[in-house]
Amino acid sequence: MASSLLKVLGNGRRATSLLVEQAAKTTSVQHSDLHTSAPVAGTLAIPDRLKHIPEADDPGFFEMVEYFFHKSCVLIEDRLVDVNMKNVRSTREEKMKKAHGILKIIEPCAHVLEVNFPLLRDDGSYEMITGYRAQHSHHRTPCKGGIRYSMDVCADEVKALSALMTYKCACVDVPFGGGKAGVKIDPKKYSENELERITRRFAIELAKKAFLGPGIDVPAPDMGTGEREMAWIADTYANTLGYQNLNASACITGKPINQGGIHGRTSATGRGVFHGLENFIQEASYMAMIGQTPGWGNKTFIVQGFGNVGLHTCRYLTRAGARCIGIAEWDGSIYNPEGIDPKALEDYKLEHGTIVGFPGAQPYEGESLLYEECDILVPAAMEKVITKANAGKVKAKIIGEAANGPITPAGDKILQENGCLVIPDMYINAGGVTVSYFEWLKNLNHVSYGRLTFKYERESNYHLLQSVQDSLEKALKDEDSLERRFGKVGGGIPVLPNDNFHSRMSGASEKDIVHSGLDYSMERTAKNIMITANDMNLGLDLRTAAYINSITKIFTTYRDAGLSF
Ligand code: NAD
Repeated sequence: MASSLLKVLGNGRRATSLLVEQAAKTTSVQHSDLHTSAPVAGTLAIPDRLKHIPEADDPGFFEMVEYFFHKSCVLIEDRLVDVNMKNVRSTREEKMKKAHGILKIIEPCAHVLEVNFPLLRDDGSYEMITGYRAQHSHHRTPCKGGIRYSMDVCADEVKALSALMTYKCACVDVPFGGGKAGVKIDPKKYSENELERITRRFAIELAKKAFLGPGIDVPAPDMGTGEREMAWIADTYANTLGYQNLNASACITGKPINQGGIHGRTSATGRGVFHGLENFIQEASYMAMIGQTPGWGNKTFIVQGFGNVGLHTCRYLTRAGARCIGIAEWDGSIYNPEGIDPKALEDYKLEHGTIVGFPGAQPYEGESLLYEECDILVPAAMEKVITKANAGKVKAKIIGEAANGPITPAGDKILQENGCLVIPDMYINAGGVTVSYFEWLKNLNHVSYGRLTFKYERESNYHLLQSVQDSLEKALKDEDSLERRFGKVGGGIPVLPNDNFHSRMSGASEKDIVHSGLDYSMERTAKNIMITANDMNLGLDLRTAAYINSITKIFTTYRDAGLSF
């Protein structure tokens, strides 16, 4: 059965929507080339169409993700059959068939929507705007993944990013399927009014086609979008298709606090990048593998992209004791071996709209900051910046993939051969989606974290101190020794909370919960990645370990849910 192609042609100001691929998963099964030659007993192999990817100069982004997926499937095929399906009552041959079927279901993108709609520009002219949303997987719902505004947006990019989101969510145990949206515009070239019209119209188009809604598909900020756009989308949905839905505000995350957002979402991805690096930098065995000492002390780092993720990564890494020596932006790079102050740079960028000219650093004149000597490199801008052509020039010992897909498979291979530890995107930039999950839960609960318990917790803690005080006073009356020690008979012995306890008297605030929940999630995931890397003898190849963990979890979901209906 061919993919169904649904074309909804509008007239006048109605949108032209093209559902590029409404490929039911069953359809995808037939088209997948995950396994070809020997359907039952044969082992999996990288499909022919992807065999060039590990050497490709400029691979398609979706092909990159597919290649990493297949590479991991080849490694875990037997484990899925013999360990993961151990309790399934059937022959090995039947299990093998089912395992191959599940992997075929996991791989392709379930739906990709393209929309085209008109924009009335401020000068009275009209322009057609193109946007996409891909839903990669519905093994868990809703789908989750950001909306980006960029001239590079295309169907291939959103498909790749949505697939990455599926694996990312599974990697950090966030129960969502993967999604991603993009609008092909350069946001710098539009006024705020124009951006608002584009965003609201895009939201309506998504909602009309079931690509937006609290239970079906929940976008978030990404490149070129932020709280402002999320607030417009929430408002548009709540006042149109979602007007009868009590949970309408949960149709999107990354909203401002006063629109149902959560404390710590804006900085969550950067904070997660810090935790992701921290978990490996403090691990002596990994640091020994790359000839580094554990700990942050005086480690230097360079960041590409001083947007949401790059800026907050700089803040947290600097706070941990590392030194930012360079920042690369699209319009220029800055360098200072003594360290760049992230707060001062943030203020400068807010005022001037660029990092160029920042007085706390000098302009960088070399070939590329990505090739400069440093301990940690953080690409936080865009995909495919480290490739076969330039990976050999990278001198950093550790790369934290804050951006999605910044390293091609050929680049990855060269970096590993050169002893560089790459902490993969699907793990290290998962802080955003983790905190988005907390925001979504908050919206569904219709109450902020801690609101119902603050007073009760505080009073409980005072009661606890009071009971300690009462017991001491009783003991004082009964025991000569205590009486002597405290020197007052019948007097009150105040039992006061120390500073740490005092700050926790009211229980956890929303911020405390978000921060500790994120920290816990990043730490637990890092341990699981390390265990798999160790079990499977993967050395520095953390990406494959992360893929294996994610695929195994998604596999288990399908194993128990059944494959078709
Ligand atoms: P952003 O738009 O806030 O920041 C991107 C920054 O990169 C901008 O400052 C931009 O000027 C800069 N940039 C663009 N082209 C560049 C180039 N050629 N060289 C150097 N700098 C360049 O976007 P963001 O939200 O920070 O996202 C950055 C990356 O992180 C993307 O790959 C995105 O998918 C990924 N990511 C974002 C989040 C999130 O929560 N925002 C979560 C996970 C992953």
